[in-house]
Amino acid sequence: MTTKSWQGNLWLADQSDAMTHDLIELCNINSGSDHLEGLKRAAGWLERFFAPLGIPCQRLDLPTYSILDDAGSQTTCATGPALRWDLGNPNAPRCLWTIHYDTVYSQEDPFQTCELLPNNILRGPGVIDAKGGIVVMRYAAMALEKFAPLKDVGLSLILTPDEEIGSPSSLGMWESIARDFQTAFLFEPTLADGSLVQSRKGTGTFVLIVRGKSAHAGRNFHEGRNAIAHCCRLACQIDLLNGQRPNVTVNIGRLRGGNAVNVVPDTAVLRVNVRIADAQDQQWIENHLNQLAQKYNQEQLGYRVEIHGGIHAPAKIHDHATQQIQTCVEKAAADLGLSLSWKQSGGASDGNKLQALGLPNLDTLGPRGDGLHSPNEWIELDSLVEKAQLTCGSFLHLPFQPRPMG
Ligand SMILES: [Zn+2]
Repeated sequence: MTTKSWQGNLWLADQSDAMTHDLIELCNINSGSDHLEGLKRAAGWLERFFAPLGIPCQRLDLPTYSILDDAGSQTTCATGPALRWDLGNPNAPRCLWTIHYDTVYSQEDPFQTCELLPNNILRGPGVIDAKGGIVVMRYAAMALEKFAPLKDVGLSLILTPDEEIGSPSSLGMWESIARDFQTAFLFEPTLADGSLVQSRKGTGTFVLIVRGKSAHAGRNFHEGRNAIAHCCRLACQIDLLNGQRPNVTVNIGRLRGGNAVNVVPDTAVLRVNVRIADAQDQQWIENHLNQLAQKYNQEQLGYRVEIHGGIHAPAKIHDHATQQIQTCVEKAAADLGLSLSWKQSGGASDGNKLQALGLPNLDTLGPRGDGLHSPNEWIELDSLVEKAQLTCGSFLHLPFQPRPMG
């Protein structure tokens, strides 16, 4: 089967300007992961954006999640809804398309709007991570509905509001529905050179709370127990884990503590981001961090250390099931005359979690660009049509697919 002359591709080629217009509108709505009102506004916009599919939108309220603040206390946070549309045959094998609509840019971030640059480049918050992917997904779904109606297959589209903070609220949803699907496509951007990702490192954040005892820095300094100083001793030991095991890195990302400089600080909060390549690495780093936390939990000296957090995204492996999807994407690329390359990535996505839940997936069907998570995030606008065509072709090459019409 080939999708070379599929009519949907011609239709998609005509949607370039509309896709750009929609992307700018969506990116100009701030939907930072911590901006609840912005997430709700974006969700409303997205409901209207997907309405032409003619499928009712299911709004799924997600549970709250808690974060440890810089004083070492738990705070409860709410997130926006997940949005879901079910297309095709409800009784047939089902494919999932998903991506997140939150971004890393908070409401206060100076980077809030899009700017068109020469050579059909658009700079803006979330243009590739991952609002460009949402636009790709929506237009690809429209093309399938128009030109390859889904009679023998089901397709669910799901948008989530919390991926950039590790999907704490949507994880429960994935745990309960991942098994309903055979395959998943995710619309994270490609790597900067256009390569797609076939395996990803796992990641997690550990939070170490160090408690000492406050005291006046002049009058009774020696009665104090300096939590920052103790935390620094611990942080240096954690940093020394780097280089001890290939593929494992530990980043001392953030250390907060103290207030007035004439007071011995009684609390320090250390955040450590970890990257791993497999389950053995995960075991290794968890053991070492727990041992160090225990070693520095020196109550007899007046210091307590608690460890929180953990690996939230296991490593994503290039296994046989991933290779089968990759083969479909390669066939679709060949039909379109595109050449693809594949790489590993150090960054995690929801694809890591879905694979760990037994759902094989390919997670870089989004557009090309670079600078994600920075004020220079940009997209190659021409890649929107190309990726929507590639998505449809890949989907139509999946083993359970019907033949396209036209
Ligand atoms: Zn993303």
